[in-house]
Amino acid sequence: MARIQESKLRKIVRYAYRNVSLYRKRFDEAHIKPESIRSLDDLAKVPFTVKTDLRDNYPLGLLAVPANRLYCLYASSGTTGKPIVVAYTRRDLDRWARLMGRTLDATGVRKGDIIQNMYGYGLFTGGLGIHYGARALGATVVPASSGNTKRQLMLMKDLQTTVVTCTPSYMVYLIEASKAEGYDAKTDLTLKIGIFGAEPWSEEARKRIQDAFGLRAYDIFGMSELYGPGVGIECEQQDGLHVWEDEFLTETINPSTGEVVEPGKEGELVFTMLSREAMPLLRYRSRDLSTLYEEECTCGRYHNRIKRIKGRSDDMLIIGGVNVFPSQVEHVLMNIRDLGDQYQIIVSHKELDRLGIKVEVPANRLNDVNLMKRIRDDLFAVLSIHVEVELVEWGTLPRSEVGKALRVVDLRPKE
Ligand code: ADP
Ligand code: ZN
Repeated sequence: MARIQESKLRKIVRYAYRNVSLYRKRFDEAHIKPESIRSLDDLAKVPFTVKTDLRDNYPLGLLAVPANRLYCLYASSGTTGKPIVVAYTRRDLDRWARLMGRTLDATGVRKGDIIQNMYGYGLFTGGLGIHYGARALGATVVPASSGNTKRQLMLMKDLQTTVVTCTPSYMVYLIEASKAEGYDAKTDLTLKIGIFGAEPWSEEARKRIQDAFGLRAYDIFGMSELYGPGVGIECEQQDGLHVWEDEFLTETINPSTGEVVEPGKEGELVFTMLSREAMPLLRYRSRDLSTLYEEECTCGRYHNRIKRIKGRSDDMLIIGGVNVFPSQVEHVLMNIRDLGDQYQIIVSHKELDRLGIKVEVPANRLNDVNLMKRIRDDLFAVLSIHVEVELVEWGTLPRSEVGKALRVVDLRPKE
């Protein structure tokens, strides 16, 4: 692996320097010659690329090829501002498709499987990424796209779908939606595998989804800047996501100092794309927090693994000086049996920052003070701050039927 990476690294650094003015400028400013990047140890000398570099060069300032060689263009969903445009040559697209085929294969998807792809088709790379992967693998794909829940369930039953792909929040929503539509999720449906990503989720959400549908749920990770989905995937062990390091050289850094942290320690994921033609990215700071570790996996794959993404450094809430990740709240809530699957985090300010949680419960538990106390205590144990808990009736919080869930409402005045 190191040999493959080093030879690709040497090539891509020279290629980026020669063809992208931003890289030429960065290397020259830092007095680094591309030829001096020879081994993996030299990687730390390479300057970072950040999201604002893509925005500042909007839309196509980072192209390494003439525009007429582009096969297609995508724009990220833009959860954090203006969209980022990403470009692919035909070769990039073929490489991505093969990687996606490998990604689906790692979860046990095979030719003969019927994949109902409920990621949005369009500018969001999730939809077509899965689609191309299914094609590379030779499995059958149903391009259902997102939304239209009734039709999704009907197709799932009538076509005997075996694999579903969507955001985890949508799959959680399908638990109740399938009941409401009169389906028995285990006997009417034939789901074996679910591949869920594009947003953080928790081990507890996995349990709920698996129990409800009788499938095995796998975590998939990626982002538009790095082709799209398929940077990392859980194997059948469901214990960490293998990152395809022959394509994405992976490091973790301390987000405040930029220093590389050792394997096994949490940090911000940084990726170097080893063969991207249209838009090479060197040491791209993802802002996603996770832990990279090197233990061998019992599945036999030698690609290192990362832990579940904890969240983005920019979706971290700072409540009265305390750092809170929405994923921590989900972890606590989903661990409490009596609660529904839907919740909302509300941040407000009245003299002090306040953190409130609305969570759905059955009608007969609405005034259950013990339950409220349990939630408060469990959240306090994890977050070390007091949380105002409100129990609300089933079905009253907004569901995410399309795209990523919006769980956080921040009512604090913006400065
Ligand atoms: P945007 O950056 O506009 O949301 P993308 O659709 O490319 O556009 O989203 C990529 C981001 O989605 C990642 O950087 C990460 O924060 C999040 N993400 C993707 N997959 C996962 C996953 N499996 N777990 C947690 N977060 C994920
Ligand atoms: Zn494995």
